[in-house]
Amino acid sequence: MPRISSSFLVAALSAVVACAPAERDRPNIIFIFADDHAAQAVGAYGGRLASLDPTPNIDRLAQEGMLFRNAFVTNAICAPSRAVILTGKHSHLNSVPTNAERFDSSQVTFAQLLRDAGYETAIVGKWHLKSEPVGFDYWEVLPGQGSYYNPEFRTAQGTVQDTGYVTDIITDKVLDWLGRGRLGDRPFMLMYQHKAPHREWSPGPQHLNQYDDIDIPEPATLFDDYSGRSSAAREQEMTIAVHQHLAYDSKVWPDPEMEEDWGTQAAQRLRDRMTADQLAAWDVAYGPKNDALRRAGLTGDDLTRWKYQRYMKDYLRAIASVDDNLGRLLDYLDHSGLAENTVVIYTSDQGFFLGEHGWYDKRWMYEESLRMPLIVRWPGAIEPGSEDSHLVQNLDFAETFLDLAGVAVPEAMQGRSLVPLLMGERPSDWRDAIYYHYYEFPAVHQVQRHYGIRTDRYKLIHYYLIDEWELFDLEQDPDELRSVYDAAEYADIVTELKERLARLRALYDVPEDDRVP
Ligand code: CA
Repeated sequence: MPRISSSFLVAALSAVVACAPAERDRPNIIFIFADDHAAQAVGAYGGRLASLDPTPNIDRLAQEGMLFRNAFVTNAICAPSRAVILTGKHSHLNSVPTNAERFDSSQVTFAQLLRDAGYETAIVGKWHLKSEPVGFDYWEVLPGQGSYYNPEFRTAQGTVQDTGYVTDIITDKVLDWLGRGRLGDRPFMLMYQHKAPHREWSPGPQHLNQYDDIDIPEPATLFDDYSGRSSAAREQEMTIAVHQHLAYDSKVWPDPEMEEDWGTQAAQRLRDRMTADQLAAWDVAYGPKNDALRRAGLTGDDLTRWKYQRYMKDYLRAIASVDDNLGRLLDYLDHSGLAENTVVIYTSDQGFFLGEHGWYDKRWMYEESLRMPLIVRWPGAIEPGSEDSHLVQNLDFAETFLDLAGVAVPEAMQGRSLVPLLMGERPSDWRDAIYYHYYEFPAVHQVQRHYGIRTDRYKLIHYYLIDEWELFDLEQDPDELRSVYDAAEYADIVTELKERLARLRALYDVPEDDRVP
């Protein structure tokens, strides 16, 4: 080992001392993470739901910050997205390719590195990685998916239960930690992670009757027939028409005529969690609407349309609480003086189908589940009301947080810091394609395993267990209704994309055998 001269040490120590004032200027980071909040249900992204004004506070964040038009997940399902974000590595390298695995907490995470670098770190809300959170000074997380009403929380001291609605309670805990829980005046990194608007989309008490008197616009593809695509699109189990459960998903409960199947039992468990007051308020809101459905005797497409309305209203009601509580947080940051030096990020673990293709849920590389909302506010650095269109991914978040904190990004992380994009730069060597890989099959919703590449115009998908391919020209076919994989005029595009896909798989060290893990 080379000897270090004492004069070098003195110089190094003076450098540390000289850096001390700047140290205090490192920004705080608040990462607000919704679950299954699709970009098309964020007002600032436009689209058919924007006229409902579903997210005024998130939209405020966009007006004051930067909105990313092309943010994509690497693997569109809950736990895997979280593992990618913590490690900056694709699913085949981070121990969580599906919702079934336990996160290997001995891995290097950005949280641990930020903590080592002097940041105070905290996580409150949904965690979903089974193992105990590591790298956090403070953590209070939902067990598994958690519950909307009267949720339990795992803490370092054991499990506690709170009375109330989960989105409000998570925010109470966050505000309490910000105001009284922090250890000192070190910069902090807070992960504020909602359960909402995950299935079963239970609204909070303040929003049980929101949207009662309006019709939610339907997507053009609500009655998709899945022609023109692979067999995977036809053989899934995630349609509103067939697979949404009337008791569990649509909350037509209690219904004595219903069979005692899994959905009815699950719905009963939701009722059993509520206090008498909560349940009474719930039944006042839902009872008359459910009675009207029974009287109407709807069947076929009419029933599907009704289920779509119920689904979308509950989904947007759950989001309304997320948005209300974001307003509470933004007010707190303003009044406490923290807003100025705090980077606030709003995103979701993946997108979601809101009736497009007749579906709910996520998993697919199709646009609605692939796309993540991503909005970042950083006063004094980001130009208010700006937009970015680079291809970015949740793979980039760990690197971004480290870069914001001035911490070196480990070589093994596979993404890239978004800080230059936040500063309005347009790096000429930014990625021109993303890699995607979904593994959870066979499983609920029966979505075939697939991987693929998306460029700004094309998307090539390989369902490798059945060896079927799809190619979409997003410019000609933004709704992805017609694969042109076999079309002669796209033959050269297919060849080129397969080569680029192979290069991406090599770049990210994807194992040859896709059945593993
Ligand atoms: Ca999710």
